[in-house]
Amino acid sequence: MDFSLSEEDRLLQGSVKDFVEDTVNPRWREIEEKGAIPDDIIEGAKELGLLALSIPAEYGGMELGVLQKALIHEMLGRGPWALGTYVSVHTGIGCVGLVKFGSDAQKQRYLPKMATGEWIGSFALTEPDAGSDAGAMKSTAVRDGSDWVLNGTKTFITNAPKAHHFMVFARSESGISAFVVDADRPGVKIGQVFDTIGHRGSRPAEVVMEDCRVPGDALIGEEGKGFDYAKRCLAEGRTTLGARCVGSAQKAMELALEYGMERRTFGKPLAEHQALAFRFAQMSARTEASRLCVLRSAWLLQQGKAAVRESSTAKLLGAEFGWQTVDECMQIFGGNGYITGEYMIERIWRDLRVARVYDGSSEVQQMLISSQLRKGNVLTPM
Ligand SMILES: Cc1cc2nc3c(=O)[nH]c(=O)nc-3n(C[C@H](O)[C@H](O)[C@H](O)COP(=O)(O)OP(=O)(O)OC[C@H]3O[C@@H](n4cnc5c(N)ncnc54)[C@H](O)[C@@H]3O)c2cc1C
Repeated sequence: MDFSLSEEDRLLQGSVKDFVEDTVNPRWREIEEKGAIPDDIIEGAKELGLLALSIPAEYGGMELGVLQKALIHEMLGRGPWALGTYVSVHTGIGCVGLVKFGSDAQKQRYLPKMATGEWIGSFALTEPDAGSDAGAMKSTAVRDGSDWVLNGTKTFITNAPKAHHFMVFARSESGISAFVVDADRPGVKIGQVFDTIGHRGSRPAEVVMEDCRVPGDALIGEEGKGFDYAKRCLAEGRTTLGARCVGSAQKAMELALEYGMERRTFGKPLAEHQALAFRFAQMSARTEASRLCVLRSAWLLQQGKAAVRESSTAKLLGAEFGWQTVDECMQIFGGNGYITGEYMIERIWRDLRVARVYDGSSEVQQMLISSQLRKGNVLTPM
């Protein structure tokens, strides 16, 4: 078993780490105060190719494998989640559906402009009454001649206010179908834009469709297969989100360690008190375990495997272990950690919390894992 990275992947990961640490992290307060990612940071992300990770080279993208994307997302996790989420949805769940299931015409129309970041993508699955139980969606798609007419409201949609188009899921005659819907189509509007406690700078919003007429060629793949496509986009998204959680937990631990070595109580640095020293050891062990699960899931997906149990495990451990670690790091910062805008740990704590909720909550991941176990998928063959 070879755990080493290729020189190319090491350089790629290093360049994203440098961008996050040198260009983005020093401006985390500015991003939070403005509630937006500054344009020059978006330009920097574009220059690095971060908006083109999943797009095939023939459409101007970087055509990275899931493993490489996981390496990058771990580094994005070291910075503000506003940027991580923006990149992740645009180039992940908001893009891989078109790459994997789109027609040639759809790929030619959307992918080159998504690769340059001129067009931003988005993934619209959740509805006000259908989140964890996404299959209970009420949005409809009805054929009218060669067109489709869409109705319904999607909610909490990342990138929606900036999106050029949405990958929309709606119920048609033969099941749930997927469509690519341009944001400027008559009948589509952005509804409520939400203010969130973390991810400040990335504002999810409602996408409302009222008698929105789209041409027949807006259907992605086959009619009725949309829910299957959504699950396949999410399996990859869960793995890269797990990677982002690992990056946040790692960063939080490094910050807490630095603080704990400097701050002294009872005659010695905090980090040397045995109760806290053991906590650091446990943080490190949890983060290493999550990272390995993330990388194995990414590797399986890269081999074309469904990796349902493994991607859910990667996301569950990333989010739950990550949260435990980040919360313990907050504790190490004492009162200083709780002051707004003072230490970065409070931002990480607010940002990471939602990982236990979105892209399939921790409870949903446990349902998926248990269902796989009941089907006999109890051990990943090596
Ligand atoms: C910042 C943010 C960004 C988002 N971005 C997107 C996006 O880009 N696209 C998109 O489509 N969606 C997006 N979402 C939506 C997100 O995926 C949903 O919030 C998530 O799936 C949970 O759905 P819900 O909020 O309706 O919670 P609910 O489904 O109402 O669940 C509430 C709680 O009950 C638990 N629960 C539900 N059913 C069960 C059960 N059977 N057993 C045990 N526990 C259960 C859940 O785990 C959760 O903790 C985003 C959400 C947020 C907060």
